[in-house]
Amino acid sequence: MTFRLANIDDRAALVDSDGNYYDLEHLSGKRLGPDPMHAIAQSDQLHALDATLGSAEPTGSLAAAELGSPVPRPRNSYAIGLNYRAHVAEASMDAPEAPLVFTKFPSCIVGPNADVDLRTEAGDYEAELVVVIGVGGRDIAAEDAWDHVVGLTGGQDISDRALQFAAKPPHFDLGKSRDTYGPVGPVMVSPDLVADRDDVPITCDVNGERRQTGSTSQLIFDVPALIAYISAVTTLTPGDIIFTGTPEGVGAVDGKFLRPGDTITTTLAGIGTLTNRCR
Ligand code: ZN
Repeated sequence: MTFRLANIDDRAALVDSDGNYYDLEHLSGKRLGPDPMHAIAQSDQLHALDATLGSAEPTGSLAAAELGSPVPRPRNSYAIGLNYRAHVAEASMDAPEAPLVFTKFPSCIVGPNADVDLRTEAGDYEAELVVVIGVGGRDIAAEDAWDHVVGLTGGQDISDRALQFAAKPPHFDLGKSRDTYGPVGPVMVSPDLVADRDDVPITCDVNGERRQTGSTSQLIFDVPALIAYISAVTTLTPGDIIFTGTPEGVGAVDGKFLRPGDTITTTLAGIGTLTNRCR
């Protein structure tokens, strides 16, 4: 059983395969409230309600809706640096022996089509798979990790490279957490909706020019390894998100930083596309 969860006007909605959306509170007969964060913790209900979409009246068309992040207020928002070998090489770094975990402050999370407020000459893009925790836990074993994932979505780990490397050693958290630096979406899909949850193709275009091409099959630390590693330190809770790292092709390598007016187009196969304009 599958589902796609969207956030429209800060209300949870399920989306069918034709692109119609159904307000979750109405669809559930008010058994579920409107908050997407609550919906994320109710994956059994989401699966069950998805099976009723065929006989329900759509609330509207997703194409005409303004989308928020399907995970608007994660308690914790983790991100992983240097998790693709080709990106490690282009950054002239050594491959990490343990996952390089940092925080994208939850306050930077915005919708999949939000404007990015650059505030820097050194803004950069990083297309990433974002994993959403549905069942919390501590000391989660890698072999059980996928059972704790409610869904997958896309993310842009926008980075201010000047700010990131202003301190030595660098402070990743600040440099990647300016307001609007965390577009997430367009929807959250149950992991069974992607063809292979361990091999999700990712691309990123800037102004129509292909800049990044990769797949999560190239992750140095895969999703189960990341969940095991993080949950050994902090208890994961429903709605926590993990930005899993970016493939090669970031702008910092050849000085192609983001400029006001640029459009970033990020696509994850089976999940959808984020489109973000820089200002
Ligand atoms: Zn990143």
